[in-house]
Amino acid sequence: MVTIKSKKEIELMKEACRITSLVYKEIEKVIKPGMSTLELDKFAEKVIHENGGIPAQKGYPSGMRGVPNFPATLCISINDEVIHGIPSAHKIIHDGDLVSVDLVVCKNGFNGDAARTFIVGNASKEAKNLVEVTKQAFFEGIQYAKPGNRIGDISHAIGEYVEKNGYSVVREFQGHGIGREMHEDPGIPNYGKAGKGIRLEPGMTLAIEPMVIAGKHDIYQDEDGWTILTDDGSLSAHYENTILITEKEPEVLTLV
Ligand code: MG
Repeated sequence: MVTIKSKKEIELMKEACRITSLVYKEIEKVIKPGMSTLELDKFAEKVIHENGGIPAQKGYPSGMRGVPNFPATLCISINDEVIHGIPSAHKIIHDGDLVSVDLVVCKNGFNGDAARTFIVGNASKEAKNLVEVTKQAFFEGIQYAKPGNRIGDISHAIGEYVEKNGYSVVREFQGHGIGREMHEDPGIPNYGKAGKGIRLEPGMTLAIEPMVIAGKHDIYQDEDGWTILTDDGSLSAHYENTILITEKEPEVLTLV
C-alpha cells in the first residue's frame, strides 16, 4: 500500500532523515584507508544513538532460511560489491577503494534512508566517473518526481542516463516507498518505461536509489546470504536519498 503522509508525519520523517544525512557528514570526516568496515559501522551507530535514533537495518530479516538477520548498522559494500555488504573487523578499506554505504535511521517510528559511495584516497578516473554518473542518475530521475507524473518516468530517466554513459543498472533491486516501514510501496526500478506505474501525489515519501555497475548488469549473492556482487567483477556505485513529493519540486530530505 502506498502511504500519503500527513504534515505531522512529514515532520517526523524529516527528523529521521536529518540524522541519516548527519551520519554521512560525519563518515566523510573519518573514512580513510586502513580502517575496518566494522570500525566505520560502530562509529555510525554511535552518531545515531547520540541523536536519539535507531539503526533500522540492524536485525533486518534476510527472508532466507539459514541466513541470520542483518547484524550491523551500515551496509558497506566495497568495489565489486554492489549492496548489502556486512561490516567486519577483517575487512579493511584500502586506498583507491569505492566504499558504498547504505543506512536507514528510525526515529519516532519513521525512517530515513540514504546511500553514498565514498571514494577513498586516490581512485582511478573511471571509478570517479562511475560515482559521479550514479549520483547524477538520481538527480535525473527526480526531475520527474512531481504530481501527475508516474513512477515509470523516474525509472526511465535513471536507466536512460546510466546507459547513455555506458554503464548498467541493477535489475533485481530497486527503490521503494518509505515511512513507518523501511520498505513500502511502490517499488521504484532503476529502468523502465516512461508513462507506466502509479501516479505521484503530494505527501508520498520515496527512497530513490540508482545502483550502477561499470560493466554488465548481472549480479550474484555471496554465500554469506547478504552481499550482492557484480558477476563480471567490475566496479559498482550506489546513491540514494529519501524524497518528499510536494505540489511543486520534490524535497530531498536526506540532503540537509
Ligand atoms: Mg537504503
